[in-house]
Amino acid sequence: MNMERVLQTLKTLNEFGVSEDGISRLAYSCEEEKAKYYLIEQCTALGMKTRIDPAGNVISRLEGEDDSLPAVAIGSHLDTVYNGGKYDGTLGVVCGLEVIRAFMEEGIKTRHSIELIAFACEESARFNVSTIGSKAMIGDIKKDIFRIKDREGITLKEALKRQNLDEKELEKANRIQSELKSFFELHIEQGMKLIENKKNIGLVTGIAAPLRMGLKITGKSSHSGTTGMKERQDALLAASELSLLIEAAALKESEYETVGTVGTMEVYPGAINVIPGLVKLKVDIRSSNISSRNRVVQALQKGISQMKDNRGVSVQIEWMMEESPVLMDKELLKNNVLICERLGLDYMFLSSGAGHDSMNMSKRWPTSLIFVPSVQGLSHHPDEFTELNDIEKGLSLLMEMTKEQAIVLMKGEKQHGNKSS
Ligand SMILES: [Zn+2]
Repeated sequence: MNMERVLQTLKTLNEFGVSEDGISRLAYSCEEEKAKYYLIEQCTALGMKTRIDPAGNVISRLEGEDDSLPAVAIGSHLDTVYNGGKYDGTLGVVCGLEVIRAFMEEGIKTRHSIELIAFACEESARFNVSTIGSKAMIGDIKKDIFRIKDREGITLKEALKRQNLDEKELEKANRIQSELKSFFELHIEQGMKLIENKKNIGLVTGIAAPLRMGLKITGKSSHSGTTGMKERQDALLAASELSLLIEAAALKESEYETVGTVGTMEVYPGAINVIPGLVKLKVDIRSSNISSRNRVVQALQKGISQMKDNRGVSVQIEWMMEESPVLMDKELLKNNVLICERLGLDYMFLSSGAGHDSMNMSKRWPTSLIFVPSVQGLSHHPDEFTELNDIEKGLSLLMEMTKEQAIVLMKGEKQHGNKSS
């Protein structure tokens, strides 16, 4: 493992899309494409077979002893948000590449092939749809997404076409289960838990999925000077009460890391001397524990049912999205614990509040997501940073996971089975 090489590769990839405001390497953009071609160059130079699949995912393969066996895949994404950072996604790809480089350098041969995957369009920043590459890999692409436009009015269909990809071919990115044995992703935490707990490694147990709804709260607008306090049907006060209720209900579920957010609030008519008659809220509730998430929703629904009596307002719910949380593979998780203990790595279990390609991959293949600390919890920000020491620890775990899953045959004279030195 060569940390200087890791940093150098990270640096080179981050020259694509860099400006003084951060890194903008948006999904299916020229910058992302250049980064992909740089990666392809590196993989080809290592003698790996490399292809871009119909969804724009880069898949590079280091042949194992028995090519008929399913491959062990490692990956993450190269695209960023607008003015993003250097580590989100890119670090996982670079670490995957380093595993392969180190294997080749040390003469490590494995029974299973190893694949490095750089997923296309993980971030929803450009088209409001996230993880398109990994969704395509499990055949989970909705037909209506191709007409979605970015800020410049370019449709997803057109953006794909500019990369010589055809939306009609996208379904061919769907891979059958027997092609892969397992999938690993190393990613920055994008939160504060590892830093707060002074741990180097986060073993992700599950990925939270959002439930989103719109609330339309209808009261009665009237004059702020002439309407007495007891006569009011103030939609904003009802909205505030519901917002606080979401906070309290989610706080009660903190052992499950459940979170609830009111992200937008529109107030009508929106005048200083008029009691708000209509308020629209958008609510996002997430957890990797579905029962816990449901309890927050039930508490909210109970609060809503009392609004008529308490404040004389009516509340309509518009269900926008309800995704199921996913759990990471338990066997791999157990294995990761053993590896961490063997290597003396300071780890903790946590769940991920943000979505990742691992979320889709886990629906078809045993998947393991590992987190390394984000300084100040910063992410989707130019100042995103992870200490080299933490990268090294994450990488050593990733390396061992790959050795075990891909099954090391020989290293020099020594015979390795499931255990490695
Ligand atoms: Zn990411």
